[in-house]
Amino acid sequence: MKKSKEFAEALTSSFAPAAYVLNETERRPYEIDWRKLVDQPAEAVLFPSTTQEVSDMVKLCQKHKLAIVPQGGRTGLVAGAVPVQGIPQVIINTRRLNQIRNIDAINNTVELESGVILQTAQEAATAIDRTFPLSLASEGSCQIGGTIATNAGGIHVLSYGSMREQVLGLEVVLPDGRIWNGLRRLRKENIGMDIKQLFIGSEGTMGIITAAAIRLLPRPKKTLTMLAAVKAPDFALETFVRIQNLCGADLTSCEYFTAEGLKLLIDHIPQTALPFTDNHPAYVLLEVMSLDSSADLFARLEPVLETLLADKVVNDMVVAQSENQRLALWKLREGISEAEKAAGGALKHDIAVPISVIPSFIEAVSSEIMRIAPGYKLNVFGHLGDGNLHVNIVPPEGVSLSDLYSGSNPITSCVEKNAMKAGGTFSAEHGIGQLRVSSLMDYHDSVELDLMRTIKKAIDPSWMINPGKVLSHANQTHARHR
Ligand SMILES: Cc1cc2nc3c(=O)[nH]c(=O)nc-3n(C[C@H](O)[C@H](O)[C@H](O)COP(=O)(O)OP(=O)(O)OC[C@H]3O[C@@H](n4cnc5c(N)ncnc54)[C@H](O)[C@@H]3O)c2cc1C
Repeated sequence: MKKSKEFAEALTSSFAPAAYVLNETERRPYEIDWRKLVDQPAEAVLFPSTTQEVSDMVKLCQKHKLAIVPQGGRTGLVAGAVPVQGIPQVIINTRRLNQIRNIDAINNTVELESGVILQTAQEAATAIDRTFPLSLASEGSCQIGGTIATNAGGIHVLSYGSMREQVLGLEVVLPDGRIWNGLRRLRKENIGMDIKQLFIGSEGTMGIITAAAIRLLPRPKKTLTMLAAVKAPDFALETFVRIQNLCGADLTSCEYFTAEGLKLLIDHIPQTALPFTDNHPAYVLLEVMSLDSSADLFARLEPVLETLLADKVVNDMVVAQSENQRLALWKLREGISEAEKAAGGALKHDIAVPISVIPSFIEAVSSEIMRIAPGYKLNVFGHLGDGNLHVNIVPPEGVSLSDLYSGSNPITSCVEKNAMKAGGTFSAEHGIGQLRVSSLMDYHDSVELDLMRTIKKAIDPSWMINPGKVLSHANQTHARHR
């Protein structure tokens, strides 16, 4: 209690009132994760507005032996941006670090602070006729720092890659408060270890990203968006392969969802526009783009679409005829997480497997879940073209999600083990946070875990940046937790 009081006094004497909140009511929204699964108190929530302020705040937390939770837009799905139980922690939220410092159409780069909202970055790129290469359903809320810290994926990985591929340089405040300025904007540089990679995807466990230099791409001039209704996952895969064979890198997105996802949308998202008069078991959303403003994408695709229908690979198909229709089709895919949350949530998984085994993976998991968890429903959706599926299991009424997340759980084991058996991963784009720590211990290579722990200790010897996330603590063994 004395410690908290001293810290509060130091805060109020060092920073302007806009830079912190101490009282419980104002802290509350920052202490709860997007899925409302984790709710742990922080001593304070800090809102630095400059890199120097982040550094001063980190030093103050070190002095008072308070752990730090870096926080962006709080849309992460594994509770990485909220406190863990049992450790005195302070949240450093980056929302006031929100300046676009420089945008450059000749070098095709943007240098921006970590609190810039992804959608704002996209709009800035569009204004100079460029594309910001990342797009996610959460883009109206998630921040650049969060997308780098999680190495976010999203709907354009197929042609642009995930966030790691976009980052040219970083500025980071280290756990001891030093500022590392690695904000270089070069495409090529071979000067030994690529230190920025330590921070990309490390979910705030190595330092606080304060700014980044990101590559921009040419802006496509033509877009064709279509939704195919299919009987089963193997037909969805066949549709993807045939269109990718024709379009190559011009196929920028290939997304998958099922009748279960569509039902959640109809039940929970007002004004969901139904794409077909009939119901179908599964759907594939495909988007093709071209840099050539005179390209006739429909003429290019028409023969393959006709063959897909004639061969009965696709049951039915709609092609968006306007930007409004395109957005309505995307809403069907991108609204599923919100609809699922509105329905009470689900046991979420974020696996990836080689795309060729997607049908057999879905078949194996579906039949095993039906056997071990009767009454639970599968809501499978995701980035089919990347092999990344969200295999979410909706529990029957009356089953608490928090109970399903605590301790060992045969449903999660079933999904993750099948993904690993198929040569895949249990975490494709959401990361580890505090919800997947035991899976990391279960499935990850022990040598890699040792290396991760050694690097973490070298950069953060007192384990004070985001403790309990990714690697739960310094002396954790490789013992299986489940
Ligand atoms: C509807 C919905 C759809 C989504 N779709 C996708 C998707 O398609 N692909 C995908 O990859 N993810 C997706 N996500 C997950 C989420 O949006 C991403 O992980 C996003 O990158 C998180 O950004 P954020 O700013 O909200 O970070 P937060 O949730 O605030 O933080 C995430 C992690 O990053 C750390 N962190 C945040 N900021 C910093 C910083 N400045 N420095 C260091 N560490 C930091 C936090 O400590 C935490 O560990 C989705 C989420 C929702 C709700």
